[in-house]
Amino acid sequence: MKKITTGISLLLLILFITACNNESVDEPDTETAGNEEVDPSNEAEDSDSAEQDLPADDGAEDSEESDEEVTEETPDEPEVSYQVNQNNWAVEPIEEGIDEKVVLLTIDDAPDGQALEMAQTLKSLEVPAIFFVNGHFLATDEKHDILKDIHDMGFAIGNHTFNHPNLQDISGEEQRQQLVDLNDLIESIIGERPQFFRAPFGANTDESLAIAEEENMVVMNWSYGYDWEKDYQDATNLADIMVNTEFLRDGANLLMHDRTWTNEALPDIVSGLRERGYSFVDPDAIKKVD
Ligand SMILES: [Zn+2]
Repeated sequence: MKKITTGISLLLLILFITACNNESVDEPDTETAGNEEVDPSNEAEDSDSAEQDLPADDGAEDSEESDEEVTEETPDEPEVSYQVNQNNWAVEPIEEGIDEKVVLLTIDDAPDGQALEMAQTLKSLEVPAIFFVNGHFLATDEKHDILKDIHDMGFAIGNHTFNHPNLQDISGEEQRQQLVDLNDLIESIIGERPQFFRAPFGANTDESLAIAEEENMVVMNWSYGYDWEKDYQDATNLADIMVNTEFLRDGANLLMHDRTWTNEALPDIVSGLRERGYSFVDPDAIKKVD
């Protein structure tokens, strides 16, 4: 009998200790910032909302049969149905029956001043895109938060080198640092390594191509872009040429940058392309390096 009583006391003690531990674990951490409405021009916005969206990997891949359940939400991983043509950088269907009349939107040199607002614009228009980022734009916590926000909005984050050098002007070891160090930094911020690489100025080397492959990144340049040319550093002119250029064709890979005029032109670029019958490739649907 005494043994049982001791046993019960012990059990109660354990329960008590467990309860205390739980309590201490659940103490609210001292978050102060709320979800205020954000002035889009203010880069230093808080990113609390992003923290709630951490992906919960619960092995959903096993349940191929229960796909119907997720039709309401945009699926995280659309079926891989396009590949990047390594000769002309166009995005092409990997088999018949896939929509050919598509373009891919890419935004380079991010996140400088406009990337977050550009992402918000694209998100509101339900247009996917790749943001190719540079390490030198990721020097502050605020920029880390912006990158995380852009990624949490569903956009692909690509590697555009750490410091934007011409890779043909630097050593193999320096090229490795430019690619790998940025991937390390991006992974530390968003929790995954980039799956796309674009060299500054489109200037690759044998070494950079090899490193990109080691890092499992799809390499791409672009089909056309205009926003760095003087005549098109203007939203109206830029929107016009991006939609009416002779280079617009099925699978075109459109290059834009984190710039004020591009940000301003973005809604017209999207609506103009839609009026011409194009839809937008989801980077998640592009075949990756195995
Ligand atoms: Zn660039």
